[in-house]
Amino acid sequence: MIFEHIIWSAAFAILVGTLVERKWGYVLPIWIIWACCSIPDIDYIFQTFMFKVFSALNLNSFVIYHGDFHNIVMIIVLALVFAWALNKYLKIDYNDAFICVFLGSAFHVFCDYIVYTQPFCPISPRFICEIHGLGLFTETGSWHGIGEVSIFVAGVAFLLISFCLRFYYSENKWIETSPAYCDGV
Ligand SMILES: [Zn+2]
Repeated sequence: MIFEHIIWSAAFAILVGTLVERKWGYVLPIWIIWACCSIPDIDYIFQTFMFKVFSALNLNSFVIYHGDFHNIVMIIVLALVFAWALNKYLKIDYNDAFICVFLGSAFHVFCDYIVYTQPFCPISPRFICEIHGLGLFTETGSWHGIGEVSIFVAGVAFLLISFCLRFYYSENKWIETSPAYCDGV
C-alpha cells in the first residue's frame, strides 16, 4: 500500500477540512494532512539505512524497524518535529501544522491497520503489540507492485464522497474555500 495512501489521504483531508469549516468556521491548511500521508513510513527508510550498519556492530536492538513509527507516541513526536519545521520555514501556524501532521500521520496508521493483518504496537514502539490489523483488503501489490486495485477503487469512492460533501456544504463556492488553501504561503 503505497500509492493508495495518496488517494485515501486526499479524501480524508477534504473530509476533515469540510467538517471543521462547517462546525467551527475555521479553515485548516488541510494540504498538510494530505502531504503527510506517508510520514510514518519514514521508519522504513531508517530500517534500510540502519540495519546493515547496526547489525554489523551487533546492535540489532537499536535498529529502527518498519512499523516503529506506527503508534501514538511516535505520531506525536513526528507531529512536533514537522510542525516546528512548517512553522519555521513556511510560517504556518504551529497549532494548525501540529493538528494536520498529527491527523495525516494517524490516518496513515489507520489505513495500514484496516488493510494489513500484522500486529501493531498502538502506544509506542515494541510495547503492547498484540493488536492485529483488520485485514479488510487483500494486499497483493497487484498494480505494478505499488498498489492494490481494490484499495485504490475504495479510495476513489471515498474521494468522490468527500468531494460531494465539500460541494454540498460549500454551496458550490469551491474556489474560495479550496482545500488547497495554505495560510501564509
Ligand atoms: Zn505504513
